Amino acid sequence: MKVLEERIRQEGLILSDKVLKVDSFLNHQVDTELALAIGQEFKRIFGHLPITKILTVEASGIQFAMAAGIALGVPFIYAKKRKAVTLSEAVYSAPVHSFTRQEDYQISISQKYLGPADKVLVVDDFLATGAALVGLADIIEEAGAELLGVGCVIEKSFQEGRGLLEQRGINVHSLARIASMVPGEIHFIDNDST
Ligand code: 5GP
Repeated sequence: MKVLEERIRQEGLILSDKVLKVDSFLNHQVDTELALAIGQEFKRIFGHLPITKILTVEASGIQFAMAAGIALGVPFIYAKKRKAVTLSEAVYSAPVHSFTRQEDYQISISQKYLGPADKVLVVDDFLATGAALVGLADIIEEAGAELLGVGCVIEKSFQEGRGLLEQRGINVHSLARIASMVPGEIHFIDNDST
């Protein structure tokens, strides 16, 4: 998605060869027009599939899951990190190791909102190690639902996430794919997106 790549070039802060900060427009302050355009792009890529629900993980996937949900006309669910006390009913859960925070946590979704009739699109802001998305894929499997695809806004293609998901036969599309980066320089993989 050219407009996204351009924004990353202009505003992205490359903190190291592994960490990209996009706080000014994607995951702290959010450019709402860009977020809605990202939702439309996910519709262009996945809209032919019979998706019934979008899934993401709180917090930074929420704006893109909502944009995709609006574009596709389906609800979205965000997995909660840690088992909240307010989730007194039964939950599906999976352990996740956080790459950015170097800590382990649980993600969970109420069993009320996901089941065998659901066909799911997973959406997230970054695909890095793939740990969060593998956790979501496990939850979807546990619920007996079907995972139709994974859509990520930014993929750091030099990390192992895409490979892990593809090994499980998951259909992965990312809107901006970073081949490599060092402070001051970033290279994207040519994409089929707009
Ligand atoms: P994972 O390693 O599980 O693929 O990534 C989990 C989460 O870590 C992503 O959804 C994203 O919120 C965060 N993350 C991973 N790499 C980066 C990065 O380079 N920059 C930012 N801002 N967040 C990242």
